[in-house]
Amino acid sequence: MKKLIIIKYGELTTKKDNISFFIKTLRDNIKASLININHNIIYDKGRMFIETDNFDEVVKVLTTTFGIHEINIAYEIDPSSIEEISSYLIKLLEDKTFKSFKVVTKRSDKNYPLTSVEISKKLGGLILGSNSNLVVDVHNPELFINIEIRSKKTYIYFEKIKGLGGYPVGTLGKGMLMLSGGIDSPVAGYLALKRGIRLECVYFESPPHTSDAAKNKVLTLAKELFYYSGYLKVHVVKFTDIQEAIYKNIPHDYMITIMRRMMYLISEKLANKNNAKVIINGESVGQVASQTLTSMAVINEVIKMPVLRPLACFDKSEIITLSKKIGTYDISILPYEDCCTIFVPDHPVINPKSDVAIEYESLIDYDQLIKAAIRNVETIKISAKDADFENIL
Ligand code: ATP
Ligand code: MG
Repeated sequence: MKKLIIIKYGELTTKKDNISFFIKTLRDNIKASLININHNIIYDKGRMFIETDNFDEVVKVLTTTFGIHEINIAYEIDPSSIEEISSYLIKLLEDKTFKSFKVVTKRSDKNYPLTSVEISKKLGGLILGSNSNLVVDVHNPELFINIEIRSKKTYIYFEKIKGLGGYPVGTLGKGMLMLSGGIDSPVAGYLALKRGIRLECVYFESPPHTSDAAKNKVLTLAKELFYYSGYLKVHVVKFTDIQEAIYKNIPHDYMITIMRRMMYLISEKLANKNNAKVIINGESVGQVASQTLTSMAVINEVIKMPVLRPLACFDKSEIITLSKKIGTYDISILPYEDCCTIFVPDHPVINPKSDVAIEYESLIDYDQLIKAAIRNVETIKISAKDADFENIL
């Protein structure tokens, strides 16, 4: 009897046309994440199987991999008669403490002489015959006994471990995440990864107004996202000259509007340069002056590329709950300054006008400043120690 892991994909199976691409990407992502763990992946119609001697570590990785619906630790036996299956099963049950059980059978081998219901009934009867203390409870059993009869092999498992769902990262192409040190943007990144978007990140820093500690905080957040995504890049943009030019030349109520227009312009350029199709950020409607609908429209109009705002309609409390769940909250609340917070005016405009923004912008030579910022980008690769994710991009 061989012990192995079964992987079931959920939503993937609805993507009929490019299912093989989805599965190959999932397999490549799993392989890359398990690079330091001894394992072997086998694919067989609608299922993936992993052989390993390190079940705990493999399951840990699989529970942070998008595109997986369910994980089972299973025992594999050759296709056998009901009597043979039951003798394996009774052996496995010796270690378990339970009183009530239910057998659930899935039969994908339609040539097997009994139906799923007949198999469950027969196995149930044989288990009861082996131990008179047990009872069947179809509604609320202490133990589910799952049997899967496939054409090549039969599988027995007891536990269903929930996967993260979503699509395998990379199946939907790439996006450029505006990653700050705050609570929102890592959560926005997580949700984009969940839809299969591979991420590159852009972080705007303003040294000496912002510190290396602030930058390291953002890189630490990126590392947390790495566990869900595999390979990740962070483009660090020096924003000091642009922010100082804005501070010196532009009426302060429009400072944030113009600053964010500049961030959008740079993010779009970096996205194009790196073959990303969308920009992603952590904006949430109404959260601050730059996130009113009017502000968002006036800021958005400087670029053509679509902007995904996964948190647009989330309450802050919902975002916090999610950030705790994915493990970024404790890092996000560390008290380091951000370039947005150090130049904050007392009264930022809530309903900026597009023509006013354009007029104010012309007071600085932003074209040249943006070109210089792009020239000086520092790109940092986040990957597991010794891991080589390069070949799966
Ligand atoms: P967060 O929204 O992540 O908690 P924040 O509240 O400091 O951080 P906001 O002022 O709400 O940021 O900005 C909205 C979004 O703009 C952020 O979610 C993030 O996507 C982007 N952003 C803000 N500051 C930066 C920065 N320094 N570098 C990159 N992106 C940024
Ligand atoms: Mg925010």
